[in-house]
Amino acid sequence: MIFHVLTIFPEFFRGPFEHGVVARARQTGGVEIHLHNLRDWTHDRHKTVDDRPFGGGEGMLLKPEPLFAAVESIWPERDRSRRVILLSAQGRKFDQAAARRLSQAAELLLICGRYEGVDERVAEHLADEELSIGDYVLSGGELAAAVVVDAVARLLPGVLGNEDSAVFESFGEVSGEERPGILDCPQYTRPAEFRGWKVPEILLGGNHEEIRRWRKQAALEKTARLRPDLLRNVE
Ligand code: SAM
Repeated sequence: MIFHVLTIFPEFFRGPFEHGVVARARQTGGVEIHLHNLRDWTHDRHKTVDDRPFGGGEGMLLKPEPLFAAVESIWPERDRSRRVILLSAQGRKFDQAAARRLSQAAELLLICGRYEGVDERVAEHLADEELSIGDYVLSGGELAAAVVVDAVARLLPGVLGNEDSAVFESFGEVSGEERPGILDCPQYTRPAEFRGWKVPEILLGGNHEEIRRWRKQAALEKTARLRPDLLRNVE
């Protein structure tokens, strides 16, 4: 899968895209990430990407011209397999179901806003969708883009060592529907006793059927305690 990220801070992504699963996926060729500097599509001496909002108000907005020019030069042709996503606090909430949906695309182009945001014509006429990573305001779309790339990349075939690990984890698929599943069960590693806290006996016993049942029950209990809203999604 190919990701394009349009940003005024391409160097921001050195950390997130050069470690762990995403870095490995880039090395093995499962994932390509192209970082594009928005200022490359400006024509003035100062490489201006922002301007004041009409009607007054605080701060500056990213101008539409360089954003449209960038997308149209990265993809002179667009079809349904190429999705333009505007990262925005006003967008639809990004979740595991959205990550699964986006992992079906051939290419994603993520637009990172900055300052007070982005001229609304970008949301209306350039982006296929606006996505928010949560109900809080970040100072730029770069962190959000890194979150989306990471969550989508790890769902691509061959990216995780064990194909099952993306299914049997928190928010796993609910029978093919676009809804997040429940939380993963609690997991433990050695030592079997730490500061007097013992790992549940059943996990040490080696009876796979009992362990499977314990895990299902423990996952439901943890979900009920921490995220009861997710229980609506299961039988
Ligand atoms: N004035 C905007 C508002 O109130 O909705 C906030 C702009 S924010 C300071 C600057 C940029 O950060 C946005 O254009 C967007 O790209 C990004 N951003 C902020 N919060 C975000 C969120 N929760 N999810 C995704 N992107 C976000």
